[in-house]
Amino acid sequence: MIKNEKAKATIKTPSPIISDSIQTVEKNTVVQTKGFNLWYGDHHALKDINLDIKKNEVTAIIGPSGCGKSTYIKALNRMVELVPTVKTNGEINYRGRNILDPSYEVEELRTKVGMVFQKPNPFPKSIYDNIAYGPRIHGIKNKKILDEIVEKSLRGAAIWDEVKDRLNQNAYGLSGGQQQRICIARCLAIEPDVILMDEPTSALDPISTLKVEELVQELKDNYSIIIVTHNMQQAARISDKTAFFLNGEVVEFDQTDKIFSTPRDKRTEDYISGRFG
Ligand code: ADP
Ligand code: MG
Repeated sequence: MIKNEKAKATIKTPSPIISDSIQTVEKNTVVQTKGFNLWYGDHHALKDINLDIKKNEVTAIIGPSGCGKSTYIKALNRMVELVPTVKTNGEINYRGRNILDPSYEVEELRTKVGMVFQKPNPFPKSIYDNIAYGPRIHGIKNKKILDEIVEKSLRGAAIWDEVKDRLNQNAYGLSGGQQQRICIARCLAIEPDVILMDEPTSALDPISTLKVEELVQELKDNYSIIIVTHNMQQAARISDKTAFFLNGEVVEFDQTDKIFSTPRDKRTEDYISGRFG
């Protein structure tokens, strides 16, 4: 039996070059959006979206207000379905499985694809309980394990040193920038694979913004990050790839430096040079 399997494996293994290139594509693409459309009632809000999100990269979504940025990232964890009029077609494959398939376990998806919102939204609970909330829901009760998760998550979100002596205080007592990093820590505590961020710094002051931007850069070593931003300098500073959305379509998707130095589409050029938006 074992011998047979070995023999099969030997025969099946293609030449290293092919096998490596196939593996690279499969391994590196975390979320693949293929011919995806979304309607709110009659309003066609996302049109034939094709985007590959790669592992350990920061992908920025830019574009004017109302072009579908939030709708797109909320589709990636199926949160957009909370709007009853929503209809979709096409595919969104997360690690090779189509999440739009009705049989896909949406709760499990949301533990893998975490989200951070525009306005910091900590729970009205202690800092500790904010972070322990998700793990507790997943059945972790052991105090020592929870302590470890809380510390690791707060460290991961670069806020441990600021809060370690007041873990039992209400998270509402923190500044907006600290609250946003608490929300990022809360997201890390469920050990996600992909982190969606919808304009996470737009309610923050410049110093807190910088901290969150630095954090995003650190987090990409362990996560894949999709960040919506209307701040083009931010996209240029922190992302590897940028997708420019306009009227529900992806006009251009490329390496961030290419988008900002030599865009191929006139509309991208007009947008990044501030002619509209
Ligand atoms: P962005 O995040 O780029 O500003 P959105 O994704 O929020 O854009 O919105 C895209 C389009 O979908 C807009 O025309 C908006 O009015 C519409 N839209 C967003 N949310 C809803 C909703 N819950 N019901 C109906 N239309 C919506
Ligand atoms: Mg939005």
